[in-house]
Amino acid sequence: MLRINEHYLKLQASYLFSDIAKRVAAFQTAHPEREVIKLGIGDVTNPLPPACIAAFHKAVDEMATTAGFRGYGPEQGYDFLRQAIAVNDFQARGADIQADEVFVSDGAKCDTGNIQELFALDATIAIPDPVYPVYLDTNVMAGRTGMFKDGRYEGIVYLESTKANNFVPDLPKEPVDLIYLCFPNNPTGSTITKEQLKVWVDFARETKALILFDAAYEAFIRDSQLPHSIFEIEGAREVAIEFRSYSKSAGFTGTRCAYTVVPKECRAFDAHGNKQAIHPLWNRRHCTKFNGVSYPVQRAAEAVYSPEGKAQCTALIDGYLNNAKIIGQAMSELGYTYVGGDNAPYVWIEGGRDSWEFFDLLLNKAGVVCTPGAGFGKCGQGYIRLSAFNSEANVVKAMERIKEALQ
Ligand SMILES: *Cc1c(COP(=O)(O)O)cnc(C)c1O
Repeated sequence: MLRINEHYLKLQASYLFSDIAKRVAAFQTAHPEREVIKLGIGDVTNPLPPACIAAFHKAVDEMATTAGFRGYGPEQGYDFLRQAIAVNDFQARGADIQADEVFVSDGAKCDTGNIQELFALDATIAIPDPVYPVYLDTNVMAGRTGMFKDGRYEGIVYLESTKANNFVPDLPKEPVDLIYLCFPNNPTGSTITKEQLKVWVDFARETKALILFDAAYEAFIRDSQLPHSIFEIEGAREVAIEFRSYSKSAGFTGTRCAYTVVPKECRAFDAHGNKQAIHPLWNRRHCTKFNGVSYPVQRAAEAVYSPEGKAQCTALIDGYLNNAKIIGQAMSELGYTYVGGDNAPYVWIEGGRDSWEFFDLLLNKAGVVCTPGAGFGKCGQGYIRLSAFNSEANVVKAMERIKEALQ
């Protein structure tokens, strides 16, 4: 008799976005004439930058020739891309990261989900609340939690992000081993300063913990004082792994390319308390379970770092940031308080009512889809997330409708 992994049975039955899709579908069935504007799911809407498309096409044409054909590439990514990443995303910002510390992959979702398998099953996990659901669910699947009770899993240390701490969690009061952080944050759009991030790095060094830093939204940072990478912080190389993605920075959500940075000094410990380097372990996992991102996609990602590519990505993100500004202004005018939107594509709004109630109100009265904050964790209750990923025209229209509905 084959038994299943019963930890999967602890997972909450329905994933946030399928709940939303169901409510939207029901609304559309009841009101087929109403046009719904989606400011909910965190997916980009603008086409790929022309520089990426040109490189993509060129690489596909190479694959059509005997001389240019490529089969399996290096699992860790082609050197041309790893070099471009190390130089442009890190060394140019004063962060000492080398090409062989970069692992190219098909997504930060997979990487943030897979990384936990390197660590002991009895490791204590600290996860922000509210949070991108992947960190939590993959630890549930692995068996690092108890049951789900009163909106939380037993055995997890929740790092609360609330109005009181301006949505940057305080250090945990109890000892923890593995810490997930995400800045600029999904869902709150909040950011972390160098000084605040240094506190976490120092804590990890003192307590022999490790930080998993998700920087999927770093390209949205416009405040020159904010760190783009945890490796801008002194001492981070021993205690941090960073996740990046071209999904939000260059519109690659459907093209798939991301990377994870594991410095050579990055360590965890064995049962005898001896230091073990994480780099060779992640390399081993990656090579065993992954066969590399396709050559044309890696060429398209490389083009992000060309002069044209850089300018086009900046323009792309400026457009989304302008949308976020329109959203923030409209909600302010209606008397709501919010965070985010200035260095992130998300605006996190205090609704003064239950999250799902606010969701239904915006859907039914304004035909606008948001994401209920409660779906991201207990601390998200009472909030909604509006996303800037749409056309400016749609964002303007959505905010006009919301103003009419809520005034
Ligand atoms: C969108 C997003 C990612 C990117 O995931 P991909 O798999 O690279 O598309 C990673 N982390 C967070 C928090 C995100 O919102």
